[in-house]
Amino acid sequence: MKRTHYCNDLSAKNVGQTVLLQGWASRVRDTKGANFIVLRDRSGIVQVTVEASNSSYPVSTEVRSEFVLEVEGLVQVREENNQTRQYATGEIEIIPTRLEILSTAKPVPFPVDGTPLTASEEVRMRYRYLDLRREPLREALKLRHKVVSSIYNFLDAEGFISVETPMLTKSTPEGARDYLVPSRTNPGEFYALPQSPQLFKQLLMIANFDKYFQIARCFRDEDLRADRQPDFTQLDIEMSFVEVDDVLELNERLIQDVFKKTLDVDIPIPFPRLPYADAMNRFGSDKPDQRFGLEFADASGILKDSGFGVFKSALEAGGVVKVLVAPAELTRKQIEALEFTAKQNGAKGLAWAKVAGGSLEGGISKFLSPIEMTGLLEITGALANSTLLFGADSWDTAVKALGAVRVALRDELKLITADSPRFHFSWVVDFPLLEFDPERSAYTFMHHPFTSPTIKDLPKFGTPEMGSMKARAYDLVLNGFEVGGGSIRIHQPDVQEKMFNAIGFSTQEARERFGFFMDALEYGTPPHGGIAWGIDRMVAVMAGADSIRDVIAFPKNARGADIMADAPSVVDSKQLEDLHIKLSEKSIV
Ligand code: ASP
Repeated sequence: MKRTHYCNDLSAKNVGQTVLLQGWASRVRDTKGANFIVLRDRSGIVQVTVEASNSSYPVSTEVRSEFVLEVEGLVQVREENNQTRQYATGEIEIIPTRLEILSTAKPVPFPVDGTPLTASEEVRMRYRYLDLRREPLREALKLRHKVVSSIYNFLDAEGFISVETPMLTKSTPEGARDYLVPSRTNPGEFYALPQSPQLFKQLLMIANFDKYFQIARCFRDEDLRADRQPDFTQLDIEMSFVEVDDVLELNERLIQDVFKKTLDVDIPIPFPRLPYADAMNRFGSDKPDQRFGLEFADASGILKDSGFGVFKSALEAGGVVKVLVAPAELTRKQIEALEFTAKQNGAKGLAWAKVAGGSLEGGISKFLSPIEMTGLLEITGALANSTLLFGADSWDTAVKALGAVRVALRDELKLITADSPRFHFSWVVDFPLLEFDPERSAYTFMHHPFTSPTIKDLPKFGTPEMGSMKARAYDLVLNGFEVGGGSIRIHQPDVQEKMFNAIGFSTQEARERFGFFMDALEYGTPPHGGIAWGIDRMVAVMAGADSIRDVIAFPKNARGADIMADAPSVVDSKQLEDLHIKLSEKSIV
């Protein structure tokens, strides 16, 4: 290796040394009498100054943006000017004794030197290798590397063993569709790509590994919502002989260590724990952003005799009226936008009233009695110039819709400020075990079918009270994102069978899908539990990135396509024949 330094390693302490650098011409500026080349490598940039009298001057005039260069030269103090302070190595420059062009480059489709981007995301993704030359993406991937390596170091020191589990496997249900891979050698049979290593990590506990982890690639074929990737990376953990507290406590220490080592940020532990029912009741979300307040108050009691039809019918049907204080006098346009959000989340509308001079006006205020007004002001503590927003419906719909309104208000009113905590972690615990799926008219699992109910709820399997069973499950929430989740698992074969039956699998169906796992449970299974966190989302929040795409080297676009490599794409008929696949007329384009 000829290189002596990375660009950013140089500073005034290198003045007088001869160095050899290799990198890209980030910016090229020629003035009469000198060429200035800003040389860039993965560390940063440094200026190379080539005066007309320099023997490298003729070569330097050939250099264009993004040419690859090798520069040998002397480090010298740079004359102070406007630019010198703009970057880390600004106080020095390189005077070449030799300048070589190692590679030329076509003009790039968008600037990669830090000037504001106007290129569409489509173009940037097509030329992802160029986009990755830009500092924000490069630094985000470096941060990602540091996060992963500090996870390895921490878990290694705690006695965890990293084990790889298969990519070509059988379906592991996490509530999404599987990506299937046809088998050439077993006509008509398919592998599934893992939605998570769930069953394998549990098998590793049966196999006495005691503490396992993996930086695992997972695949879920879901309807693509904004900022989801069909393949993504999890930190997957499983531990034997543990209770909920053990898993949470280990993860708190791990997160604290990772944030300290990578960002030098102190994360206070333990993280607050919020039962699921409270999270929904107070914030209308199972992943509440707690960097700001705006908790709901329950106005059902105060409005129990309300003459306002919407409140009256919600309460008569056994529902609730929840109220949220927007700390601003909202404009009509803002209210309309919030109402749209509420409706998209199941509400029929969004009732409102403004707070002015110790009373309420506008919106639905004409339907409120003075006593109701006073009561509402009292329970909300609302101050003048704020707006009350109501969710009146079944409990579920009211809190969810108002929860979505709360998040929309955060963005609209810019409630996250420089004073807000940069990273707010919490656990949501005490999830229901099952949720009712009206489409199938049957229960389905809330986390996955291997999650243990709380011990005291075990007798409820198969009874009408099944819907009220609680799970020993937990979610990790960071700044309003669900960044992880896990549970204590079922380790008794008979309980596992009851769980399968509860979600509508007959014992025979369960055997067909998970027979190998049910067999394994019978050979001495330790109590165990674990968790997985989404590395992509965690790093995106750490990097302050808007999208997880900014922390993934080669992401898919919002339609799940890799537009650079052109995937997915059609394959030739010979390949399909080998795989025993015939396309239907409809799918041939
Ligand atoms: N397998 C679960 C998931 O991917 C995590 C866990 O339960 O450990 O969400």
